[in-house]
Amino acid sequence: MMFFDILTLFPSMFQGAFSDSIIKRALDKGLISIDIHNIRDYADENDRHKTVDDYPYGGDAGMLMKPEPLARAIKDAEERYREHNPAVVFLSPQGELLNHSVVESLMKEKSLILLCGRYKGIDERIRQKYVDREISIGDYVLSGGEIPAMVLVDAVTRLIPGVLGNRDSAEGDSFYSGLLSHPEYTRPEEFEGLNVPPVLLSGHHANILKWQQEMAEEITKNKRPDLWDRYIEKRK
Ligand code: SAM
Repeated sequence: MMFFDILTLFPSMFQGAFSDSIIKRALDKGLISIDIHNIRDYADENDRHKTVDDYPYGGDAGMLMKPEPLARAIKDAEERYREHNPAVVFLSPQGELLNHSVVESLMKEKSLILLCGRYKGIDERIRQKYVDREISIGDYVLSGGEIPAMVLVDAVTRLIPGVLGNRDSAEGDSFYSGLLSHPEYTRPEEFEGLNVPPVLLSGHHANILKWQQEMAEEITKNKRPDLWDRYIEKRK
């Protein structure tokens, strides 16, 4: 079982994302566990306002997440998963870009503590002292780390053995083999004047596989020349 522990100021955002389809099935099968904790619960116990943010030094506009509640929340999560030596992942636009090989590397961890930032982000000392990996889902800025955490959990969960059945295995998906996926068709055979390629109707398995490989290569060359170059380089 893989353990995800999510630290957030907005726990309710995760309800919908994790209550259907593949993630729900993985939870039901006991292949993953997701625990969500509100960082506000780690505010100073004497502070009746449960403050978790403060003004940044230097006079910048906006608010920053205070270090003490974050440190308490992370230490508590580390204690919960001590036996699995959890990695603390901060979702951040400054992190390494999430791609298939990063997802594979995360999948090898037994337990991940996912820290979701808000406002202008977190006090730098939390990054220095507690964060093992910083991960970005793209070169743009979102309002918080919750959606990136959902993306990460979904992408990692899909690769965990047993989560996807044979019918929708990850192996045919884009990036798995280093290529984008070939085109797919379903019924009807003719749709608005466009026909399903005859080879897919031929029942000739070897020819179908050959066509799928050729199409995947063609599509990758056209849509993602960077991926294509890497694929060719790996095969040398
Ligand atoms: N001031 C920060 C900066 O420029 O690097 C951005 C803060 S952003 C408004 C608030 C939080 O959203 C971040 O701390 C991070 O947790 C999350 N976030 C925003 N964009 C993200 C991205 N592309 N990938 C992962 N997390 C992101």
